[in-house]
Amino acid sequence: KRHDHEIEPLAPRKQTRQLNVGGVLVGGGAPISVQSMTTTRTSDIGATLQQIAELTATGCQIVRVACPTQDDADALKVIAKQSQIPVIADIHFQPKYVFAAIDAGCAAVRVNPGNIKQFDDRVGEIARAAKDAGTPIRIGVNAGSLDKRLLQKYGKATPEALVESALWEASLFEEHDFRDIKISVKHNDPVVMVKAYRLLSEQCDYPLHLGVTEAGPAFQGTIKSAAAFGALLSEGIGDTIRVSLSAPPVEEVKVGNQILESLGLRERGLEIVSCPSCGRAQVDVYTLAEQVTAGLEGLPVPLRVAVMGCVVNGPGEAREADLGVASGNGKGQIFVKGEVIRTVPESQIVETLIEEAVRLAEEMGAE
Ligand code: SF4
Repeated sequence: KRHDHEIEPLAPRKQTRQLNVGGVLVGGGAPISVQSMTTTRTSDIGATLQQIAELTATGCQIVRVACPTQDDADALKVIAKQSQIPVIADIHFQPKYVFAAIDAGCAAVRVNPGNIKQFDDRVGEIARAAKDAGTPIRIGVNAGSLDKRLLQKYGKATPEALVESALWEASLFEEHDFRDIKISVKHNDPVVMVKAYRLLSEQCDYPLHLGVTEAGPAFQGTIKSAAAFGALLSEGIGDTIRVSLSAPPVEEVKVGNQILESLGLRERGLEIVSCPSCGRAQVDVYTLAEQVTAGLEGLPVPLRVAVMGCVVNGPGEAREADLGVASGNGKGQIFVKGEVIRTVPESQIVETLIEEAVRLAEEMGAE
């Protein structure tokens, strides 16, 4: 059992319908899942499965693959079968690939109402095929490809326009008695995005997939996503998330997981509480924190480890953590579960912390 920092969520989760996406429950109080999308050509089955394996190892729970060509559609069967996590096929323009994805055993299909004009006539057929196979559909509205009709009506991709587009598409499926739907209304501006999801959440009880689209390179995209998801998740809105970064997809998953951990929506894994350092620091905190983080990476237990530069806040934080060091005068006081267990020279701080962390992990039952 971990040290006493269990946390109450910020707000009760909004009750949504529940979907089963290839064994991962989405909505209806299920844990919020983290998604990403492969960047390989889907038709390159080996490379795609390799990337999915990397994503799985990083903690991705659902993966989406693009399906722009027949070769990609042909690859879906093997990918869906061999992937360790549920695979969602991402379809624009071509209704025939929706059927291919359902036949291939994909866990869900994402369609974009702005890009599927010809879909509207075929919604009945799609709904029937999806229902027979038990395949949920994500209606993924994107500001960059908003339905022309709504773009004309609203002048631009406003929150109202995004929501109207999504609910219009959902109503077409509802006419065919199909409700295994989740919805996203993505925009690159976190403010518009947050407003759109709030509005959508008031108007339907479908599970919502959160995303800031085209969020940008890693630093900017991380901040935009964290700010927007933080606002929504703290109001109980959002059932599954995807961070979009112009960076390798494993980075998206790390950021997504960290956002959920930060908000107390997922059990925290390894957490390094390190001080920002200041003029009082008696040790190089940055290097120490980096070395401890690197040394503990992959430890499969939730541990809070405090790395503090001096004796002002050091002992307090170190005592609160599972494990910690308060440095000073070329030495480090090592704390375990609130007690100083020994004082070591500065050069031994990192190895002592790692040793103690491994011992604690063993006690906590890690393999
Ligand atoms: Fe500065 Fe000490 Fe606080 Fe670190 S713990 S920020 S060194 S006062």
